Amino acid sequence: MDKIYNHKLYEEKIYELWEKSGAFIAKRDPKKKPYTIVLPPPNASGRMHTGNVLMIAIEDLLIRRKRMQGFETLWIPGTDHAGFETQITYERELKKAGKSRFDFDRNTLYKNIENFVFKNKNLIEKQIRNMGASVDWTRYKFTLDPDVVNTVTATFQKLHKDKLIYRDNYLVNFCPICGTTFADLEVKHKTRTDPLYYIKYPLKDSHDFIVVATVRPETMFGDVAISVNPKDKRYNKLIGKTALLPLTKREIPIIEDFMVDINFGTGAVKITPGHDPNDFQVAKRHNLTTISVIDINGKMTLPSDADYKNIDGLTVNKAREKTVQELKEKNLIENIDNTYEHSVAVCYKGGHDIEPTILPNWFVKVKTLKEPAHEVVKKGDVKIYPKWQESKYHRWMESMLDWPISRQVVWGIRIPAWYSVIENENLFITFLNKGKTEAGDVKSLLKKYAFKEIEKGLQTLIAPQTAKYVISNNKPGDDFLQETDTFDTWFSSGQWPLVTLGYPNSDDFNYFYPTDVLETAWEILRLWVSRMIMFGIYLTGKPPFKDVYLHGIVRALDGKKMSKSLGNVINPEEYQDEFGTDALRMGLISGTANGKDFNFPRDKVLAYRNFANKIWNIARFILMMFESKEIEIPFFSEVMLDKITNSDRDILSKMEKTITNVDLSLNKYRFAEAADFIYHFIWDDLASNFLETSKQRSDKNISLSVLRHVYLTSLKLLHPFMPFITEAIWGELKDLRKYPDELLITAKWPNKSS
Ligand SMILES: [Zn+2]
Repeated sequence: MDKIYNHKLYEEKIYELWEKSGAFIAKRDPKKKPYTIVLPPPNASGRMHTGNVLMIAIEDLLIRRKRMQGFETLWIPGTDHAGFETQITYERELKKAGKSRFDFDRNTLYKNIENFVFKNKNLIEKQIRNMGASVDWTRYKFTLDPDVVNTVTATFQKLHKDKLIYRDNYLVNFCPICGTTFADLEVKHKTRTDPLYYIKYPLKDSHDFIVVATVRPETMFGDVAISVNPKDKRYNKLIGKTALLPLTKREIPIIEDFMVDINFGTGAVKITPGHDPNDFQVAKRHNLTTISVIDINGKMTLPSDADYKNIDGLTVNKAREKTVQELKEKNLIENIDNTYEHSVAVCYKGGHDIEPTILPNWFVKVKTLKEPAHEVVKKGDVKIYPKWQESKYHRWMESMLDWPISRQVVWGIRIPAWYSVIENENLFITFLNKGKTEAGDVKSLLKKYAFKEIEKGLQTLIAPQTAKYVISNNKPGDDFLQETDTFDTWFSSGQWPLVTLGYPNSDDFNYFYPTDVLETAWEILRLWVSRMIMFGIYLTGKPPFKDVYLHGIVRALDGKKMSKSLGNVINPEEYQDEFGTDALRMGLISGTANGKDFNFPRDKVLAYRNFANKIWNIARFILMMFESKEIEIPFFSEVMLDKITNSDRDILSKMEKTITNVDLSLNKYRFAEAADFIYHFIWDDLASNFLETSKQRSDKNISLSVLRHVYLTSLKLLHPFMPFITEAIWGELKDLRKYPDELLITAKWPNKSS
């Protein structure tokens, strides 16, 4: 054996050895019990972050132990297309080349992003290998694989058939100049000085007014309430009263909501859910209607109860001017602050003002899906570890609203809905025509362009809420255009345990479903875990897993959240390279206590590098002892128990206790605790104590037999935690073992009597 363990000489070779041995591949043995984990798919074009490393360390630990315990283990690897995130990364590349997504039609853009992802995809796969993950690569899945897409669209069709899909209005960031929606991340903010208007809203049955401040008086035609902060004493008496919306026949309630900033304007604000994201949320909380007064061309469209109709059809800026003029004439402007500085949302592409706009979106009705999903956790059919995270699940299930599932990005699974351009004349379309984007309703566009040209250059399509549509995987007729929205990533990854196992009909699905444990970061309990439980029960009648383990977030060394802008992001590969994968895995595992967030445990990584050296040195010592002895050392199973000493009995009993403790801890997902038991047993009881005293003993045939037995057992216990070095030593001690060809990865997990 080399004097020092050099992980760089072993890790790659050992991974190859495992892979070639077939140990990773699950076989569906009817005589065995399956044990299945589905790997939460990392971003296909991304890189491993410390959270991914922790996830792999924990899941590999669970899988390796069960494999050694004789279960038919399956750990399915996969990667995620990470819709929006990836598209943004790709668009950054485009920008460097002086281009943007608007230079491409939808299909070309999709192909380009696909090429970009496939070029980068092997990087993350290599990193998963480097971590020692004993995943079954023959069952690898990507979230945009054709079979995954088929299952996901079939689920959508089933939901639609079951009347659980509907289209409804949703507030999005819309740029009327670009003619498209922008995701929150694509919206930039700039500071600008605009007049702040203080408008008097008369109170009903009173001569008094309530004054609200706004920079957007023209949107008042969409007001549905006035809101004040419940803590604001000035308005206590007015809550529950009614105000008269100027320039209309509308009466609106005065409500209280914690969102209102007491220090803004007068402390009373108008609630315009059709044109403001915060107000949209307030309206949802208070069950208020939403009125849209600006169309997707950025022109005013007034509701029928408006008394002042002169601004109908005008642009927003002109309408604002005229509205203020009218209010002044009616003496309803109390004051204008011309020095008001505020943050304005603009589109990242052209810096145009974002117009929060109500657009139809696809929704999933969640009531019938969430109730059984809530029930299985309440009943304990699905257990959440650590237990203290469970209340989050219950709160989410109680408050979950219908789920908007359409996203205005190209990189994803396109919603299989089709619109006839003959039946839907007012589809709003943007398409690329000879390198230039054209926008407008399809009826007018068809006067200038052939349908085929529009179809070929199609970028986006916005169908009114009343549009007629057909749900189908294939184009239902010559005059049909497909919905350009894609599914929310969580809609497809919410079906991940199903699609990875070949739902609805496959041998794998029949044997391995439901899986055993879902392990992930607590951050995505609501976004992901809850959706998987909902879909699992909806489609199969059974929740997709029995246990959920939620790990904490790894923070930076300074205790802050890792972020590029703070410059405190830890690259796990640097640690892996310097201290070895085992030390990194074990360091992180012992840093996570009870699923709480924790600072990157650099000291622990170092301590486990030292631990690796320690167990390496023990192996060298044992090897040396065996080589220097002429006598035959019997295997422990052949040693007569009456020949062993008290010292032997002591280490054997401590070993049994360690096995019990490790098992108990791991059964309860207490990984750090289990790691600690093994560490102290090997370092204190075995190395510092037993090994030292055994040097003095004359009955070498007994003491060495016990030493070998205890040490090999320790390697087995440690293997799921530190797989590389334990397998390396196991190989070095080949000649000392009863079955020299046996690999540690498939050796039998120790139990008390063996
Ligand atoms: Zn724009």
